[in-house]
Parts: sequence; structure tokens; C-alpha cells
Amino acid sequence: MRKIAAGNWKMNGTSSNLSEITLLADRHPKSDVEILICPPATLLGNASRLPGSITIGAQNCHTSQSGAHTGEISAQMIAELGAKYVIIGHSERRANNGETDNIVKKKAMVVQKEGLTPIVCIGESLKQRENGQTIAIIKEQLNGSLSSDAAKSPIVIAYEPVWAIGTGHIPSMSEISKVHEFCRKQLQKRFGDIAVRIPLLYGGSVKGSNAAEIFALKNVNGALVGGASLKADDFSQIVKALEDA
Ligand code: PEP
Repeated sequence: MRKIAAGNWKMNGTSSNLSEITLLADRHPKSDVEILICPPATLLGNASRLPGSITIGAQNCHTSQSGAHTGEISAQMIAELGAKYVIIGHSERRANNGETDNIVKKKAMVVQKEGLTPIVCIGESLKQRENGQTIAIIKEQLNGSLSSDAAKSPIVIAYEPVWAIGTGHIPSMSEISKVHEFCRKQLQKRFGDIAVRIPLLYGGSVKGSNAAEIFALKNVNGALVGGASLKADDFSQIVKALEDA
């Protein structure tokens, strides 16, 4: 399975920031890691046309391919712009845009139908963790966010504890290991042997300084990175740690 270093720029970046993607490509001309940048939708077309090895993805799409949905963007439109992945069900969208597991499942299905790869995000809140509900929440989100056909086309799962996103706090290595092992087993139980090929990313305050120990964990096949993906210098350290893992 190819390891993935995915950067989520969120609502950051205008055309002047495209040079960060070029810089990143220059740093990793022939990587065995899939290096993915998910810029805002406005940059997808121009980012996809840049020379170099960086793959481009979107941060969201609608459940429909077209229709009366003012201000929305469909998976078909994203595909036309040259993007290859779509982040689905990020905790910010679950919290701020009312995205339920069922909506996430529908979005992942339209993304796959368009030949793109969904990165389905799951993760517990701090309260859920403190109440000892982490595994129960992960199980519920994993089951509810994936259709019965989900493993028949490429798909990626990102475990992102909500409380670790943008905070500088990360779970202990054994906690990350435990959740990733649970995800792998759960996916195998549901989809069979094919599930060993589903990349499992960790996300939440990954930096150059902690990336190596996270990537050394079994069942961690890469990372979804927010803040540290904005600058090529920072993201390159994470990519390097994944290349060396
Ligand atoms: C994210 O938003 O998916 C994320 C992991 O952010 P950060 O790396 O900044 O914690």
C-alpha cells in the first residue's frame, strides 16, 4: 500500500500560495509517498495544472452531482478540475455544517462514483474520550460513514481525534495504535481481506517533530495534516519522516 501524506489547507491560501506546492514538488521529485495537497476549491484547477509530483484533492463536495444547491460544488466538478481525492466528514464540517454519518456516507459514494478517492474522517471529541467512549464512537462513525460497497473502490480513512486538531495535543502512541488496530480489524470484519489495502491516516497536530514516532506505529499508513501543511518547509519534514518510515 502506498503511504499518504495529505495536507488540508482549510480556508487558507490564494494563488500566491501555489508556490508552496511547487516548492514541495521540488523537494520530493520522486517520492514513494503519495503527497497530497487539498487547497481551497478556488485553487483546485491551477494547483492540478502545476508540474511535479504533488497530487491535488478537495476538502468537501455535495451529495448530489448537480442541481439547485447554491454555492455548492459536486464531485464531478472537482474531478473536472483535475483533483484525485476529496476529504469527507472532517470534524469541522461535522460540527459546523451538521454533517452526519449518513451524509458522509452519501458524499463518499458520489466521490467514488466519480472515480475519485474519498478520505473519510472519523474521531472522538474530548468529552467522548474522557467518558471512555473512544472506541464506541469510532465504531459507530466507521460503520455509519461507509456504504456496503465502500471497499470496492479506493478509499482512505483518517482517524482525527477532534481535541487534537489544531491544539498541539496528541494522544499517546499506544492510544493511536489502539484506535488504528481497532479500525483495521473492524474494516476486515466488514469488508474481508480487501480491507488490508485501505490506508489508515492519523490526523491531529502532526508536525515534523512528532511525525517519525507516529509513522513507526503499525497500521498508521500516513497522516492528514492541517497547520503544518501550509508551508512546504514544514510539510516536507513530515513527508520525509513518512518516506523514511
Ligand atoms: C486537520 O484539520 O485535519 C488537522 C489535522 O489539523 P492540524 O494538523 O492543524 O491539527
